[in-house]
Amino acid sequence: MKGELKYEGKGKRLYASDVEGELIQEFKDDATAFDGIKHDVIKGKGELNCAISSHIFERLHEAGIATHYLRREGPATMRVRELDMIPVEIVVRNVAAGSICKRLGLEEGRLLPWPLTELFYKSDELHDPMICVEHAEMFGWASREQIAAMRDVALHVNKVLTELFDGVGIRLVDYKLEFGLSREGEILLGDEITPDGCRLWDARTGRKLDKDVFRRDLGGLSEAYHEVASRLGLLG
Ligand code: UDP
Repeated sequence: MKGELKYEGKGKRLYASDVEGELIQEFKDDATAFDGIKHDVIKGKGELNCAISSHIFERLHEAGIATHYLRREGPATMRVRELDMIPVEIVVRNVAAGSICKRLGLEEGRLLPWPLTELFYKSDELHDPMICVEHAEMFGWASREQIAAMRDVALHVNKVLTELFDGVGIRLVDYKLEFGLSREGEILLGDEITPDGCRLWDARTGRKLDKDVFRRDLGGLSEAYHEVASRLGLLG
């Protein structure tokens, strides 16, 4: 059912489908880090990410959150609504890790008093710089109202996902969300939600179950993603 290739990113491809306004999103086996400097192909990663992302989008749908997800199409593909992507990423943080630790000198693992949302301008060339609402508004990337709506959804997503992962012994540390506009002008959550774009730590041991395993050479990435899928009950 895949048509013409419309977009290829580091972790996925988007193809035209047999229905106008709907795309096929395919998850790749590639793992990349540090702006693509580190690269590997991890067999089976695409299928694991597709299973995890589909499951998460289905749980979000049940919670009344509007997303681009329509259905799982094949082992590594899902059908989504075509969006006009907003070039602003929202990172939600429950625990300090990664760039916020470097930027603000925080200790990794520090529990944040409430969920923090940060905005980044989506630009590979500029390495996704952090921005504020005024930048988004001034340069026409998103209006103040759109950013407010995206933040509201991000916090709702955070409630649903924190509960989901808590229930299977995983700490949802932080993650990145992307939004886009549907043809009707509605803001929908898009892209993917996988261990590639989240930090997930085992609640008991602190073991990393996300892309930091690859970034920091901490062992098998496939095993870590398997563990996430298995705990979510996705491996049969
Ligand atoms: N993230 C992502 N894509 C990006 C930037 C960040 O998926 O382009 C995710 C990342 O995996 C982590 C969270 O967003 O779960 C916060 O990332 P951070 O700002 O700490 O950047 P990092 O140090 O991971 O590059």
